[in-house]
Amino acid sequence: MAQWFAAKATAGAALVFFRMGDFYELFHEDAEAASEALGIALTHRGEHQGRPIPMCGVPVHSHEAYLARLIRRGFRVAICEQTETPEEAKARKAATLNREIIRVVTPGTATEEALLDAARPAWLLALVPGGAAWLDVSTGLFHTQKGAEPAALIARLAPAEILAEEAMGIEGAIPALPPRDAEGRLAAALGAGSLEGFGQFSEAEIAAAAMAVEYVRAVNNGSLPRLAPPVPEGARGVLLLDAATRRSLDILEGPRGASLLAAVDRTLTGPGARELAARLAAPLDDLPGIRARHDAVAALREDKARRARLRAALKGAPDMARALARISLERFFPRDLGAIRDGLRRAAQLAGALEGAGAALLEGAIAPLGAAPATAAELERALAAELPARLEEGGVAAPGYDGELDALRRLRDDARGAIAAMQVELAQAWGIAALKIRHHQQLGYLAEVPSAAGEKLLRAAPETATGDLAPIHRQSMANAHRFTCAALAALDRRLSEAGEQAARRERLVVAHLRRMILADAEAIAAAAREMAALDVLAASAELATEGAWCRPELTERPDFAIEAGRHPVVEAALRRARGPAFVPNDCDLSPGRRLCLLTGPNMAGKSTWLRQNALMVILAQAGLFLPAAAARVGLVDRLFSRVGAADDLAGGRSTFMVEMTETAAILNQAGPRSLVVLDEVGRGTATWDGLAIATAVLEALHDRIRCRTLFATHFHELTALAERLPELRLAAMQVREWRGEVVFQHAVAPGAAEKSWGVHVAKLAGVPAPVLKRAAAVLASLEARAAAGADPLAAEMPLFARAPVAPAHPAASHPVLAALAELDLDTLSPREAQEALYNLKALA
Ligand code: ADP
Repeated sequence: MAQWFAAKATAGAALVFFRMGDFYELFHEDAEAASEALGIALTHRGEHQGRPIPMCGVPVHSHEAYLARLIRRGFRVAICEQTETPEEAKARKAATLNREIIRVVTPGTATEEALLDAARPAWLLALVPGGAAWLDVSTGLFHTQKGAEPAALIARLAPAEILAEEAMGIEGAIPALPPRDAEGRLAAALGAGSLEGFGQFSEAEIAAAAMAVEYVRAVNNGSLPRLAPPVPEGARGVLLLDAATRRSLDILEGPRGASLLAAVDRTLTGPGARELAARLAAPLDDLPGIRARHDAVAALREDKARRARLRAALKGAPDMARALARISLERFFPRDLGAIRDGLRRAAQLAGALEGAGAALLEGAIAPLGAAPATAAELERALAAELPARLEEGGVAAPGYDGELDALRRLRDDARGAIAAMQVELAQAWGIAALKIRHHQQLGYLAEVPSAAGEKLLRAAPETATGDLAPIHRQSMANAHRFTCAALAALDRRLSEAGEQAARRERLVVAHLRRMILADAEAIAAAAREMAALDVLAASAELATEGAWCRPELTERPDFAIEAGRHPVVEAALRRARGPAFVPNDCDLSPGRRLCLLTGPNMAGKSTWLRQNALMVILAQAGLFLPAAAARVGLVDRLFSRVGAADDLAGGRSTFMVEMTETAAILNQAGPRSLVVLDEVGRGTATWDGLAIATAVLEALHDRIRCRTLFATHFHELTALAERLPELRLAAMQVREWRGEVVFQHAVAPGAAEKSWGVHVAKLAGVPAPVLKRAAAVLASLEARAAAGADPLAAEMPLFARAPVAPAHPAASHPVLAALAELDLDTLSPREAQEALYNLKALA
């Protein structure tokens, strides 16, 4: 227990996997947490301060699966191993074996396949005031950013683990501080004397990067994996998307897995899927970069044969970057060596398929794809075609690669053959046909005979055979006896010596291959990056052949004109459900008509249209084609989208407060190159308030910010603004009435919606008939008042007054009490409850 407490003190918040023989045991609070998270039995063992010690354990041979579940639940696990054998402990007269934490497994630093998602990067994000660094230990990718905005960066990267200075108050982050001499440490970690030559870094970027590197070093007990030089990411060059915009657009994750990524992903490899996700999460704001991607997609869309060759070479290609990380940490399996061999073979095939491809990105990939020819060739010769699961099993090196290893293996195989021959010899000499020579973990090779024959042999042993073949009894069991003899024992010794020598030699060969791979690590990593990029380009071309996808024309002007655009996620969902076909819609925010005000009833397709146009920007600037007949997109520097419910009850803010905070963010940050998509600004407050705010926001976007804007509203009064704001155009979702039923056309047409369809939609949703009837009557009365020039809302009180109810209590005449009495607490949702509270407060 003293040993455990010492380990726990080092491990801190991490669970300690405390090795005891064939189990990793957990104790005290760790045991309680793990047994609950894993659903395994909690037991007790011994006492501590008079109380039983909670304990649970997982078997060593199957611990990876448990580890994976804990890591996925966000735990960190410190592996505390026995660092000596029982013999060694006995020799130094110690009562307990030495144990040490050899590693801490954490969500953001794991390299094992079982702990990683093949299609997602595993970012470790380090934040300090004014800067950030993020790295993926499993691939070596490393980035920094100056003046980073933590919330936006967290939303973009979805990090597996976050380190932050405690004072920054980042939720869920592990408290950390930058090391002293951050610059020197970072340079040393990169194997350089200084950071010059890697780029321009601010002090905050260096502090964050060093903080991340030191954390990785600490959890790996002092060693570091291979890391690519950090790439400083300027704010320019990337389309800025804030956290609310990402949430609103379901870019990487969405309800029931319906995300933009899922809808457009045609990649064939894990690294390709990760690269596509990275491109969609951080589209470019750089015309040449985007055009280069579009050129490559266009070329591959045209050239079907080349695309097929590329995709054939990509299909089933291994994840070289992750194999390389495991190899560099000396935490690898034979299949990781195989992954480098097979990956380089695929890279060469890809290079061959790119000759004369035309587009710069495609032809530029040829050289890096073939950059490690010597290593590729040697791995082809060195590795066996079929690799064992574990290095200890032997058989990693191919026959013919290392003469000495071959000779040792022959010796071992000869001894094996000799043992097989000896079975026949002994069966004859001892006169027992059923004799079998078997291998036992502790006892080595023994001759096993059935009980009856064994008994006879025991009694008559000396007469049975003499000399080398004289039986020597070793063990009796229920139905068999085990014997050896001098000749068998000698062979056994020879065999195990030859086996050990062969294994030792093979370890040397593997170490040599590892060094060779690491010496070429940069070239191999670069080839892996090119393969991922090619997978994305070929997949985008493949996508662009499915139905009508077009190459967008990118410009530096504030253009935005989409012809017959579609929402890729909604379209895919409709197709899957064999529902009606998606109705394509135009959108034109070109100069002179930069703002569009959309009206129409609920369920008519407003949010779909708003979102689909925001997604066009993301797809175009990520380098993909668009689900449209034609498109012209002027580069967008910041995209803001506020579509969908903005509830933040957990954050303790009302719907209206959230809405206003997000509107404020847009008004403060958007500029003339931005694109803003807003849905129902002002819905969270009283009608006149909301209308006033929506008007002011539209005017600011039109006059001051001058950005491209899509604005959906329920306030029909807003449509009057079109007369005053020259760049504002009106659009409405088309709806028809057919035999008293509402029919949504899902088509966008110029003009304002004629009429409110709320009552129709309420009917569609199954609101009971009496309520619908009453609503229709109220509506008619309101419309009549409006037509007569009276303020319809002034009628609110008398209209909504109900038949007087006798107060149950005299004090119930107070408006708050009356409102309270009206509330049906059993049917309120939390959100309605909060709104009711606000209303009560207003009445008080
Ligand atoms: P609103 O925002 O106006 O309430 P939504 O955009 O949520 O409406 O659309 C409601 C439903 O209508 C969607 O779930 C989708 O199934 C369907 N829909 C929307 N737009 C289209 C379209 N262009 N073509 C076909 N169906 C559509």
